[in-house]
Amino acid sequence: MIKAEIQQEYYQALINKNPAYEGIFYVGVKTTGVFCRPTCPARKPKFENCEFFETAQQALLASFRPCQRCRPLSHPNHVSELVRRLVEAVEENPSRRWKDKDFQELSVDASTARRQFKKRFGMTFVGYARARRMGLAMKQIRKGDAVIEAQLEAGYESSSGFRDAFSRIMGAAPTLLGEKSILKASWIDTKLGPMIAIADEAALYLLEFVDRRGLEREVECLRQKTKSAIIPGITPPIHSIEKELHAYFEGQLKEFKTSLFFWSSPFQKRVWEELQKIPFGETRSYAQLATTIGKPSAFRAVANANGANPFAIIIPCHRVINTNGDLGGYGGGIARKKWLINHEKKGV
Ligand SMILES: [Zn+2]
Repeated sequence: MIKAEIQQEYYQALINKNPAYEGIFYVGVKTTGVFCRPTCPARKPKFENCEFFETAQQALLASFRPCQRCRPLSHPNHVSELVRRLVEAVEENPSRRWKDKDFQELSVDASTARRQFKKRFGMTFVGYARARRMGLAMKQIRKGDAVIEAQLEAGYESSSGFRDAFSRIMGAAPTLLGEKSILKASWIDTKLGPMIAIADEAALYLLEFVDRRGLEREVECLRQKTKSAIIPGITPPIHSIEKELHAYFEGQLKEFKTSLFFWSSPFQKRVWEELQKIPFGETRSYAQLATTIGKPSAFRAVANANGANPFAIIIPCHRVINTNGDLGGYGGGIARKKWLINHEKKGV
């Protein structure tokens, strides 16, 4: 989250249409649902209706759509026709999942699209479309449970907004309340970007960065394994992890106490339990981890289980690195892994 005084600075830059702030921030306008670059020619919103973001992706994840006038996703003075067409195609159907053959229909070469997007915005087109899709779904979560509770009472059939966006990611809504078990999903803002927490009344089932690749698949897997419906809301474990995460990022917490529910295979559970034994501030290699588990040859399986960890930060899969000292992979992105390792090295 951006500090209050910086928000004031950004707001001044917005009022002055200061071009020096191009690429430094984007502004989401709550009354219209669009996000703009600082120099947008449109009438400027009131401060209280502004939400500031440092990247376009964050604005998308917060469910804002790009402004038609200032086109925040185009490089200033250089609007690529291809990029413009793709952004428009996403806006026609923001909850769609893009595949290579969809590009063919638009007569666009998938690799050209990927390259141009990456160059201009630091994310691929698929990443862009995903951020927009997730943003729409997450809007329901951010609004909290009031809206959804009301929809539950009214019956889901009538609520198309919920079905269109949220349910594509969180799964089909329960047809009758109490028919299946219900998990609640909540949005948590952190220093490293927004996270989603899913829990029932007793334990946490998932904690992930909202832009994590594969999150939709992971949520689907959770839903099927637990035979649950997922709706926005807050439960005691979500309260607990929110507080603990805050303390962790402030450097005041080394070990998480929020109860976790393991909905995985016994082997995965075994790997995750071992991960939890890696002390705060230290790292291990995948090979060391495999040896500790007594399966030194099952190196790949251990790495996979590590990658399938549904409890980002809590189960410290970020503490596992390559034998040669390279960071290795991370579902939430290498920059976050690096940040977490450095943060923990500073100690508490
Ligand atoms: Zn604009």
